[in-house]
Amino acid sequence: MADLTPTPDRPGLHVSKPSPNAPATGSAVCHCGASATATGDSQVRALVEGYTANHGPAHGRTGR
Ligand SMILES: [Zn+2]
Repeated sequence: MADLTPTPDRPGLHVSKPSPNAPATGSAVCHCGASATATGDSQVRALVEGYTANHGPAHGRTGR
């Protein structure tokens, strides 16, 4: 299985949920240098929403 975890060299957002009974895990690395990880469905959801709102493509919307 490929390692999809984002790194500073390959910024992005990665979420995995191995099975319906396992908690989701997520990691995010932004090209601005911010990074975060989360475990648990609600935590991961918050991570995704925060990253989407403030990092990644959001930098382009705000003119970085
Ligand atoms: Zn950022």
